[in-house]
Parts: sequence; structure tokens; C-alpha cells
Amino acid sequence: MGTSAGLYETVTQQFNQAADLMQLGGDVRKILARSTNEIVVNFPVKMTDGSIQMFTGYRVQHNNVLGPFKGGIRYHAGVDIDEVRALAAWMTWKTALVNIPFGGAKGGVQFDPRGYSTNDIQRITRRFTFALGNIIGPEYDIPAPDVNTNAQIMAWMLDTYLSSIPPRERNANTHVVTGKPVESGGCLGRQKATGQGVVFLIERWCVDNNLPLRGATFMVQGYGNVGSWTARLLQRMGARLVAAEDFTGAVSNPKGIDADDLFTHVTETGGVKDFGAAEAADHRSFLSTPCDIFIPAALENQITGFTADHLRVKLVAEAANGPTDTDGDAILRGKGISVLPDILCNSGGVIVSYFEWLQNKRSESWDLEEEDAKLHRRLMAAYDKVVHEMEKYATDWRTAAYIVALARLENVYMERGIFP
Ligand code: NAD
Repeated sequence: MGTSAGLYETVTQQFNQAADLMQLGGDVRKILARSTNEIVVNFPVKMTDGSIQMFTGYRVQHNNVLGPFKGGIRYHAGVDIDEVRALAAWMTWKTALVNIPFGGAKGGVQFDPRGYSTNDIQRITRRFTFALGNIIGPEYDIPAPDVNTNAQIMAWMLDTYLSSIPPRERNANTHVVTGKPVESGGCLGRQKATGQGVVFLIERWCVDNNLPLRGATFMVQGYGNVGSWTARLLQRMGARLVAAEDFTGAVSNPKGIDADDLFTHVTETGGVKDFGAAEAADHRSFLSTPCDIFIPAALENQITGFTADHLRVKLVAEAANGPTDTDGDAILRGKGISVLPDILCNSGGVIVSYFEWLQNKRSESWDLEEEDAKLHRRLMAAYDKVVHEMEKYATDWRTAAYIVALARLENVYMERGIFP
């Protein structure tokens, strides 16, 4: 599958469509159409074998009018400025939509971690964090995990950042990254948060659309953090996984694939390929699987003018960022397929990151039930707002979600004005 060609163009088209419809003020529109800061760092790393390799990393800080910049760090060969810029803008819309006091940012290092040892990944992570220096900070810009990064990588980022500030300030600054291991200040629900949020939203959509979740069928693209948690949680609610795809291939079984067994298989072998209790499938037949819900949870630009036609589902729940491009969106609309858009659908991750950040700041530790209940409440409030705008403007889910976000940002600019 291809990835990030023209991703910023997709964000811009989505933004323009909503801005036109809601008649967003021209000055605010000019401001939001650009990133605030775009940082490229080229940094040397001394590898385990003693050689020196150069790496390129990015941090794009799109907007911080609502609060500190916030967004994940991605390790992937396809990371480039266009992709990071687009992902940073989506974070601004997402945090504004779900009403948390953060702005939008994104970062990454352009390399494929599959070709590197754990030790070398640690060296790259530490040196990247060092290169970022005070570009990040707990009250300024707060990274989190994304594709090919996880709690361990956040622990290394945390340790490197804390080692670079005076000892007396260290304990008060653990909220510089979220998605940390629990022992290092992470919160209990962060690992499953994005998947949990996707499931809460699917559950609500099913109620509103008279589709019983018990017995509903679904397929997942990407079986990493977000895809596997979504699948396992949906299965617990009685839904049936019928196909899954990742970078190793695709598998399908109309009678059902056990999501927990598939998770064990992926953990042991690195991918869904060769999972015993399912048939191997090619990309095209994966996309054509007849089922109720498709959950793209891998990379961007998957549902396009070329692929959207294959889908035979009722709902696309965008767990990934930017999985649908503008042409793909038009085809889904034409086919009457509902789309829970990424900025709503995968916002559980950043909401629970906000909970982690708050707990660190207040030296508190909430239990999982409390986190889940708060996550559910925030998501339902955002969902209701999107439905309200959708009816008011007679528009689609994505445009309505943008309108909620852009209206909030516009209000703040109108209140504060532009200095001087
Ligand atoms: P991950 O690295 O844990 O998993 C990525 C998955 O995508 C893997 O299963 C991988 O095999 C699959 N994949 C990669 N290339 C592929 C290809 N060419 N074809 C098919 N599958 C491919 O990453 P993640 O954290 O689960 O993130 C997945 C998506 O969710 C991304 O779009 C990310 O931006 C988004 N997201 C993540 C979070 C989070 O909390 N981690 C929050 C919001 C959104």
C-alpha cells in the first residue's frame, strides 16, 4: 500500500471545504492555513558497532493558541516534511474538536526501525531528543507515541530530556512526554486509549444506526497498538473480526478470527501473515471483504479513488490519521458509507494523554474506571457536537467535525486579537 503522497494537500482540501461552508473569517483562515514552526534536525548517532550514521528528524508545531503543542513521534522511512506538517495540522483540529487545552504538533525520524537493533533505536531516540533540546517541554510541546514508537521509546525520551535539565527540576517535569510506561509516570489507560475511543464511538454509531454490535462483523487494517486494541475490545463486545491486514500481508475468515489469538501471533512473529486459523488474502480481496465495519488503523492514503470502490461496508471508522483522501471520501459518500473521521475517531489517544499530563502535574493517580468514564464523557460530547453541526449545515461527518474545531479556534482568535 502507498502512503503519504500529497498528504498536506488532503488536509488543506478538508480545511477549505469546512472553512467555505462555515464562512470562517479570512484572517483566522490565513493563520490556520500555515504551521507556526517547522523544525528539521540532522543529527549524528554513534551506532552500537561504533560507526556514525546521520539521521533526519522533524517536529512541526502547527498551532498553540488553545494550549501547548501536542502530538506523536513517528519512526518510518516515509516520514517527510509534508507528512509531518499534515499530521501536525490534524492534531490542532483534533484537540480543538474534543475540547482539551492543547494545540497541534507532530514529529518523526525518517528511518525504518525494523532494520535496527533495540540498542540502536535507543541511541537514535536519545540523540533525536537531544537534538530537539528545548523545542519540546512539558508546558510547551509534549510528544507521545505514534507509528513504530511506544512506551519504551517515550521512557528514553523522558530520561534524555530530564538528564538535560537541572536535577532539582526533574521530578516536576515528567509531563514532557505522554504514553510513558506506568512506572515512569504513565497512566493505566493510555496504551489502549486510542482503540478504546474508537470502540466507544463505534458503539454509539451502532446505537444511532440500529446496528447491533453483538454479531456485527468488522475488518482491520494495521494490527499494531491501535488496530489490535480496537479489535480485541470490539470482540469483547460481541463483534466478529473477519479480516486483518498489516505490512506482512492479509488474512481472512468469514466465520471469525480470534482477535486475542491474532494478537499473540503478531507479537510472536511480527505480523498477521501465516496466522493458522484464517486464509491468506491479497490486498484487493481484503478490501472487498463484505462486513459491517472497516477500521483502517495503519497509515494514510489507503481509501482513495482507486480503492474506495472495493469496500462493501456500512461504516469506516478512521482509527489511523488520514486514511481517506479527497477522492476516496467522495466515493464513500456516493456509496452511502458513513465515515467516523480520524480527528474524532482516534482522539481517545490524545484525550488520555491529556489525563496523563494532568495526573503528572497534580501528582495524582486515577484508576482505570475513572479514566474510561472521563474518556467516554468527552467523546460523547464531541460526537454530539459533530452531529449537531452535521444537521445544521446538512453536511458530512468530516466537514462537521472540522466546523466544531475551527469555530472553537476562531472564537479564541476573535477574543484575543493579534499582537500588537
Ligand atoms: P503501530 O506502529 O503500533 O502499528 C502500525 C500498524 O500498521 C502495524 O500493524 C503495521 O504492520 C501496519 N502497517 C504499516 N505499514 C503497512 C502497510 N504498508 N500495509 C498494511 N499495514 C501496514 O502504530 P499505531 O500507533 O497503532 O498507529 C496506527 C495509526 O493510528 C497511525 O495512523 C497513527 O497516526 C494513528 N494514531 C495512533 C495513536 C496512538 O495512540 N498510537 C493515536 C491516534 C492515531
